[in-house]
Amino acid sequence: MPEGHSLHRLARRLTAVFAGTSPQVTSPQGRFASSAALLDGHLFERAWAHGKLLFLEIGGRTVHVHLGLIGKFDVTHAAGGIEPPVTGIVRLRILNEQYAADLRGPMVCRIVEPLEIEDLIARQGPDPLQPGADPNPAWAKLQRSTKSIGELLMDQSVIAGVGNIYRCEVLYRQRIGPAYAGRRIKRASFDGIWADLVRLMNVGVHTGRIITVEEDVIAAEQDIASGRLKAEYDRPNYVYQHDGEACERCGSTIRMRQLAGRKLYWCGGCQRRT
Ligand SMILES: [Zn+2]
Repeated sequence: MPEGHSLHRLARRLTAVFAGTSPQVTSPQGRFASSAALLDGHLFERAWAHGKLLFLEIGGRTVHVHLGLIGKFDVTHAAGGIEPPVTGIVRLRILNEQYAADLRGPMVCRIVEPLEIEDLIARQGPDPLQPGADPNPAWAKLQRSTKSIGELLMDQSVIAGVGNIYRCEVLYRQRIGPAYAGRRIKRASFDGIWADLVRLMNVGVHTGRIITVEEDVIAAEQDIASGRLKAEYDRPNYVYQHDGEACERCGSTIRMRQLAGRKLYWCGGCQRRT
């Protein structure tokens, strides 16, 4: 499951290569054929994301895409306007004179009406990647919940776009115990989580990587500012997939357990704040 930064990155990429052009829109697989015919040859206005939801605005209509667990939306250069061959099961192809974007295996791909868009967004929590997003609705949900903060951070109706890696890493960075109920979390801790997600996920959008170790985050932020990104950063995270290793902050062993179907990694030694 991609995390929200990769959807925002994809939306930016699609906007960069298609906005202002009137691409061919087809469904090589056929399942989206009648909808594609309504979009074909119309002006591609923009793509945008909220959390893990992606929207394409083409010719006054909006397509909602959710990649789900296995979906992929690949943008390739179609050199010289030569259409690349279709490989695999392509639900949606967008093609202009220079680029092709192929959508395979999405959970959702359909044209939606304005009221449906409002409804979809209303069911999502605030998205840390939206400039100026108001975190208060997420705080209000935390305050009412007996579910653990570890579980709540994965709930897209609480905060949109957070996946498992950011969930584990932000709790470690903020020293918060993942098992504490949402309603026990202090406002200052929540503010720390939110500000950290804004920062980390923005680094993710620009680099295309989930980077959470502070030295690497600082290095990546400097590289983003100067426009020179490295291919790799030394160590992308602290606890995610580091179970059995010693915590670099306190020396305790990093642990792992299943929580709501996903592997939670944390340090029981130094993650004790509420
Ligand atoms: Zn520790």
